[in-house]
Amino acid sequence: MDQPEHTDVVVIGMGPGGEYAADALAEAGLHVTGVESRLVGGECPYYGCVPTKMMIRAGNLIAETRRVPGMAGTSTVTPDWSPVALRIREEATDYWNDKVAADRFTDKGGHLVRGRAKITGAGQVTVTGADGTRVFTARKGIVINTGTDPAIPPLQGLAGTPYWTNRDIVQAEQVPESMIVLGGGAIGAELAQVFARFGTAVTVVEALPRLISFEEPEASALIERIFSAEGIRVCTDAPAERVSHNGTRFMVHLDMSTLTAERLLVSTGRRVDLAALGVAAVGLDDQARVIPTDGWMRAADGVWAIGDVTGKGAFTHMSMYQAAIAVRDILGQGGEPADYRAVPRVTFTDPEVGSVGLTEEQARAAGLRVRTGTAQVPYSARGWIHKAGNDGFIKVIEDADRSVLVGATSVGPYGGEVLSALQVAVRADVPVATLRNMPYAYPTFYRAIEDALAKLGSS
Ligand SMILES: Cc1cc2nc3c(=O)[nH]c(=O)nc-3n(C[C@H](O)[C@H](O)[C@H](O)COP(=O)(O)OP(=O)(O)OC[C@H]3O[C@@H](n4cnc5c(N)ncnc54)[C@H](O)[C@@H]3O)c2cc1C
Repeated sequence: MDQPEHTDVVVIGMGPGGEYAADALAEAGLHVTGVESRLVGGECPYYGCVPTKMMIRAGNLIAETRRVPGMAGTSTVTPDWSPVALRIREEATDYWNDKVAADRFTDKGGHLVRGRAKITGAGQVTVTGADGTRVFTARKGIVINTGTDPAIPPLQGLAGTPYWTNRDIVQAEQVPESMIVLGGGAIGAELAQVFARFGTAVTVVEALPRLISFEEPEASALIERIFSAEGIRVCTDAPAERVSHNGTRFMVHLDMSTLTAERLLVSTGRRVDLAALGVAAVGLDDQARVIPTDGWMRAADGVWAIGDVTGKGAFTHMSMYQAAIAVRDILGQGGEPADYRAVPRVTFTDPEVGSVGLTEEQARAAGLRVRTGTAQVPYSARGWIHKAGNDGFIKVIEDADRSVLVGATSVGPYGGEVLSALQVAVRADVPVATLRNMPYAYPTFYRAIEDALAKLGSS
């Protein structure tokens, strides 16, 4: 066995949380070894949030231009993907080069090791990279931030075909003439709309009865209606049975029909491989789908886990939130443990779907006495003024026994921004009476919160 190298903390996976933790611990003077098998920064900057939101910004510009007639004159727009592809290469990902992020860490005194890490004992991590194998022993502990990979369903015929995942589609230099999106969750819905706006004939295939099925049914219904209006074909309750590729085109076989397209995007969720990570060596279940943690992100003695792998919400903000807590714990600084009551999530379709806390169904399942209130954005003053593209609603979920909001959904223009007020209300248990007894700026989109509160109990 190789001679172990000693370090204070090994951070496995330098996604947003891992990078944050590694940087902060190195800055605090610890000897930190950060291990990364792909790119420092993780999924978000290179294959996730950042490039996809650049695409969405471009798609939304096209949609806004198309809304000019009847409101501000005439307009024509000729979509061109090349500035989007170039922006993703040059501004977002530096041609999928992580030098800036890697230097940020090493400039703080961190030690970056390229390779795949496996936990091989208490406080022990073995890294296999291009230069061979190195073994590290961590005096203080191990931080796991290994994130997720695209989950590829075991569909007959799929393996070996040139399907895309999010990691391929962000590198597209041209838009395809047609595309089937397998999976209508947040990622599938966002990308379906972008490509449709750039001229691709898009079909979304979803096995469940509705798109973005983790959100309120009203949000799914609205997005499905808007997708249809934009020419996106939506097939729900439609589990794919098998896939084939004839060299140029994909065929996706459903129960009663077969869809065909030039490209196939697989966006059917994310997966972890805890066995490959060797978590059994520290007493954790390596067949589990997530690593359970306590409020300070401790998963086992001397092991912290943060980010997607904890199953508390696969979001960059969650990864960084948890990283800050783990850092405080490792440095013995104490502070508040993690609180997941008001986790915000945004699907960046147009309109944006923002939500926080519990949905109505979740609140009822939790045994709460629930009252809901819904306001339609088009009927608010701002929605009426906005006119074209004003679809949306605000729905609030009240725990009637405590008279506080336990969840809310904000769909509409800037729905993700409007969510901020609702997040504070849920997180801080602001009494509904207080929320009702304050002025809401006129004529803003968030003012529809006041209308939704006024309707509590009437819907
Ligand atoms: C298309 C898409 C769009 C998204 N959009 C948003 C959004 O708008 N907003 C949002 O909040 N979130 C978004 N997300 C989710 C977001 O990208 C993740 O939640 C975020 O990256 C945080 O993940 P993480 O920190 O757990 O790890 P990741 O970012 O997944 O990083 C984990 C890192 O660990 C490395 N690694 C894994 N195993 C090992 C090992 N054994 N040894 C060494 N290194 C290893 C990986 O190479 C990777 O770099 C999006 C995701 C996708 C796919």
